[in-house]
Amino acid sequence: RYAINLNVRGIQPSSTLRINELSNQLKAEGKEIIKLGLGQSPFPVPDRVVKALQAHAHEKDYLPVKGLKGLREAIAGYINRGAKLRCTWEDVLIGPGSKELLFILQLAYYGDLLIPRPSWVSYAPQARIIGRSVHWLPTHAENNWQLTAEELDIICRDDPTRPRILILNYPSNPTGCTYTEDQLLAIANVARKYRLILLSDEIYGEVHFEGKHKSIARYYPEGTIISTGLSKWAGAGGWRLGTFIFPPELRPLLDAMAIIASETFTSTSAPIQYAAIPAFEGGEDIEDYLVQSRRVLKVIGEYVHRRLTEMGAEVQKPEGAFYLFPNFSAFRDQLDKRDIKTSQAFCQALLENTGVAILPASDFGFVPDHLGARLAFVDFDGAQALALAATEFADA
Ligand code: PLP
Repeated sequence: RYAINLNVRGIQPSSTLRINELSNQLKAEGKEIIKLGLGQSPFPVPDRVVKALQAHAHEKDYLPVKGLKGLREAIAGYINRGAKLRCTWEDVLIGPGSKELLFILQLAYYGDLLIPRPSWVSYAPQARIIGRSVHWLPTHAENNWQLTAEELDIICRDDPTRPRILILNYPSNPTGCTYTEDQLLAIANVARKYRLILLSDEIYGEVHFEGKHKSIARYYPEGTIISTGLSKWAGAGGWRLGTFIFPPELRPLLDAMAIIASETFTSTSAPIQYAAIPAFEGGEDIEDYLVQSRRVLKVIGEYVHRRLTEMGAEVQKPEGAFYLFPNFSAFRDQLDKRDIKTSQAFCQALLENTGVAILPASDFGFVPDHLGARLAFVDFDGAQALALAATEFADA
């Protein structure tokens, strides 16, 4: 009864969900809560995609493990248009969320995980559950918390042939920052030198505020797996649809993941896969939806950035996604007087005293007393904001 896997002991449930539950609980008790914790798209799923789901509600059969051919074709086309690659439908794997695919990637590939600090909350716990080593790569605030090719080289040089997966996520959760093409090229060259598997987490690629997301796969095509899905740019997090796009050189890894998929989740929900086809095929309506979403997010992101800066927090200007990663250490003396010494204690006090829910920097790989936090600026009515953006910014 007590033989719980040692790898799982001590790991707390995903903190994003924990803070969301605590916020819901306080809300149920009648407190007014401003939910800036959960990184969920505020926008409704595009109309045509919802209609496709309704039209396929009767699809009841198990689909092929790797995914529906029509959807895999649509995704290959989408990637080829955006990342200027030449992949085919056979390079595409579908899963119930990119989070699940990230997990089975680590089950299928026996290597250490390299992640820049700060990084999304789930990468490290997933590796720990499987019993893999995690190496946090140092980054610096002056450098927008971005990994440099030099730092990556220093980490890899000690044991140059060791199998490793590097996860690069841009625009970034939690900072909203992204990489320039020169930075991507330099990192790609180091990745090639050490034959890393580069997992390019581009789940926020479509919500680059200027619509100028570039994939690192262009510079290291033979070793890069692109990860994306419907959750962040199509407002459909709860639908659970993620995808990995592999280079032909890594087909054995795709096949190994499909074996694990076949023995675990079998396949992704059939109606959802049919519904995802128009989202990836795109069209004028999807493009309009993205243009409006980016405008809304940019306006709010820049406003919150300005207010935080005026307040005295140190914070990088976001270029995409829904996040800011402010550092409140300018307030350390005042917080000290109230015995608030860690980011966790800071976020808890903020939620209890002001009803504002944000996530502590310790969840993103920082030592407890780094007084940073992640703020997701998406507690607003997305449908209304989109309608407003469509009219107000129509000629912008
Ligand atoms: N990657 C990053 C950086 C994320 O922020 C998230 C979700 O919060 C995911 C991956 C997982 O997304 P999904 O499993 O919904 O595809």
